[in-house]
Amino acid sequence: MGRSFVGKGVREQVLSSQTSEIDADSLMRALLVPSPVGGVYARTGLFETVIEGLAFFISRHRDPGTEVLRFPPVMSRTQLERSGYLHSFPHLLGSVSCLKGSEATIRAVVDQPDWVEKLSATELVLSPAACYPVYPMAAARGPIPPGGLVFDVASDCFRHESTSEIGRFQSFRMREFVCLGTPQQVLDFRSRWLLLGQRLAKQLGLEHQIAPASDPFFGRGGRLAAMSQLEQSLKFELLVAIRSEEEPTACMSFNCHRDHFSAVWNLTTENGDKAHTGCVAFGMDRLALALFKTHGLDLKKWPAGVRKNLSI
Ligand code: AMP
Ligand code: ZN
Repeated sequence: MGRSFVGKGVREQVLSSQTSEIDADSLMRALLVPSPVGGVYARTGLFETVIEGLAFFISRHRDPGTEVLRFPPVMSRTQLERSGYLHSFPHLLGSVSCLKGSEATIRAVVDQPDWVEKLSATELVLSPAACYPVYPMAAARGPIPPGGLVFDVASDCFRHESTSEIGRFQSFRMREFVCLGTPQQVLDFRSRWLLLGQRLAKQLGLEHQIAPASDPFFGRGGRLAAMSQLEQSLKFELLVAIRSEEEPTACMSFNCHRDHFSAVWNLTTENGDKAHTGCVAFGMDRLALALFKTHGLDLKKWPAGVRKNLSI
């Protein structure tokens, strides 16, 4: 008798029909439950098992002396604005709006079909990356000590993406190691993580490549900013084929901000020089998708070394 899926749920069907070449749709259906909004999903237990393994795996590679901070999915609007995000990426920004006023005012508003028009902005935006709140926080503590500072941060992030192909979420999780210090300390951090990131991908059995990259700056002026970022080699990405071999997906990024954040927040080293900053970012949801795409949907069939590294 041929394989029969009668009576089974879609997720089980996909699981039991697993082959090593899983197409994007099957991958998504097996791991994520769609919501009415593109790029926003509920994540299954299977998906989260791998996310948790990944989080633990990354923690094991934390440098000694790293300060751990976990941020909520929202952050100060003023801080994000001062960081330059509003002008660089206004098309990706999401902000928190609420209904304000007396009980009577709010009651009258919610009874109207156009209640959305009556929303007003709060002092909160949705964090577009995990590292933004670190720089003002570190600056408030005074000069950076001679050895530099490293933070381990994470948050749920939001970007108002215009498409929702596999791997492009509006709401996703980002983990980052962030370095603040002298220009040399930040360059060393970034070079070391460029190698470490590749080693981590190898330990997870992920075929990957490193490529120079630029951020999706807004508009015509943004193209110049992107070119300058490329010319100065300020951003590299670790790419894995999730959607296709031809258009591999960025699963990690290695960023050097030079003195951008120290100019905004007056971050200095002990001798009063402007500090430099850099970060390595792990796209947790994309890394999990890359793992399922590479090793299949049955965790028991994943290579023993990968399972050991992920403690699954
Ligand atoms: P970036 O700040 O753009 O370098 O993002 C850091 C990492 O977050 C990327 O390397 C991706 O792995 C992940 N990421 C960025 N945008 C998205 C998105 N729309 N959906 C899922 N993951 C994302
Ligand atoms: Zn960052």
